[in-house]
Amino acid sequence: MDANPLRELPSVNQVLESPALRATAHDAPRSELLAAVRQELAATRARLGAGEALDGDADVEGVARRAAERLKERLRPRLRAVINATGIVLHTNLGRAPMATAAAEAAARAAGGYLNLELDLDTGKRSSRQAPVRELVCRVTGAEWAAVVNNNAAATVIALRALCHGREAVISRGQLIEIGGSFRIPEIMAVSGAILREVGTTNITRLADYERALGPTTGAIVQVHTSNYKVSGFTRSVPLPELVRLGRRLGVPVVDDIGSGALVDLRPLGLRGEPVARASVAAGADLVLFSGDKLLGGPQAGLIAGRKDLVHKIERDPLMRAFRPDKMTLAALEATLRLYLDDDSAIRDVPVLRLLSAPVAELRARAEALAAPLRSLPGVRSVSVRPEQTFAGGGSLPGQAIASMALAVEGVSRSAAELARRLRVGEPAVLGRVKRGLLLLDLRTVFAEQEADLVDAVRKAAAPA
Ligand SMILES: *Cc1c(COP(=O)(O)O)cnc(C)c1O
Repeated sequence: MDANPLRELPSVNQVLESPALRATAHDAPRSELLAAVRQELAATRARLGAGEALDGDADVEGVARRAAERLKERLRPRLRAVINATGIVLHTNLGRAPMATAAAEAAARAAGGYLNLELDLDTGKRSSRQAPVRELVCRVTGAEWAAVVNNNAAATVIALRALCHGREAVISRGQLIEIGGSFRIPEIMAVSGAILREVGTTNITRLADYERALGPTTGAIVQVHTSNYKVSGFTRSVPLPELVRLGRRLGVPVVDDIGSGALVDLRPLGLRGEPVARASVAAGADLVLFSGDKLLGGPQAGLIAGRKDLVHKIERDPLMRAFRPDKMTLAALEATLRLYLDDDSAIRDVPVLRLLSAPVAELRARAEALAAPLRSLPGVRSVSVRPEQTFAGGGSLPGQAIASMALAVEGVSRSAAELARRLRVGEPAVLGRVKRGLLLLDLRTVFAEQEADLVDAVRKAAAPA
């Protein structure tokens, strides 16, 4: 062995010329190729410097092979499709709502070409990008006017700014929620310039509490749906119609942040307690705010529906320019909202509603059909089908467990955590759950057309070393 193995390291050019690299690198950008080779040479030098015996791995072929691996990793997209086997339908880390095919296609068409985003094709004149979607939001919510911004957090900020800048926003202490990702109602209010006026207590707020707080400096009464937690026991809050009556009497608008934005009654699907946008409008809320990518099942967006004069005021706010949605969002939202013109087609064609409403018996049948091929995979010790509970997620239907069905997979030599990791980094990536030493793959969120890929992913993940 050479006294100083570092001297024996190949040069960058030698590695670049080696067949192993040339075979894989022909269409890679030169800068990426060079970076991969330099990184691998540096790593090899570090290993040798640390006294590691590389036994031939430091030769041209060894370095080139590993540089090719690095190159492949560098060129691999960082945003990847994931098979969601967590059972959580609205998983914020996984992009929340998977959109309907019609919506995804509309977004793709908008993305790849030109469209009449701000042009009235009849008159040839400039128009508002809000117009096409506004009409649909009004139709599905019953509201007089509507506007769309980038998300519900933006909707809340801009609505409070328009109504409560330098004035008081009156809200129950039981609704000062944090949604996650630093969306806290008190902080959002501060950003909007509204002055927070808390009333009542965490568990009890009465109409008289609101009444006492209202005065000449009030900008709005704000109701926020406690979308990700539940106060139970000795509790009381004021129903929306009573807030509306109070607001009307004193000339104070009522803003209702319903969060999830269900557009249809989900009770027939066995899901209780989500406010429906149309009901909030019908109850007289002056502005109703909700997300586009939660139970509505569309793109990330914040919808504002309500009184024309108030929505106009919001549209004139300079923040509107900062919060305005892009063409892909608007195209996808329009296509999604069209599905709601008929309740039955919504439940059939909006993936979020379809996933949430799939009968457990159907999930069981699919799980049982998948168990056999999974059991036969090398490296898999056992597969069982077991009832599980899941949640809608995304701050919807809090505390409401949804019955589901999962495949519990046990490896021969790999632990559940190791299997889960290998599935996560695989192609396609699969996200499951680990529970009591078993890998759980929940079928509530796996699309039927992903089943073959799922089996293949488990085959690769479980394969003996
Ligand atoms: C989710 C949620 C928000 C934030 O909506 P994004 O669209 O995620 O910005 C605001 N308010 C309530 C009540 C929510 O549930």
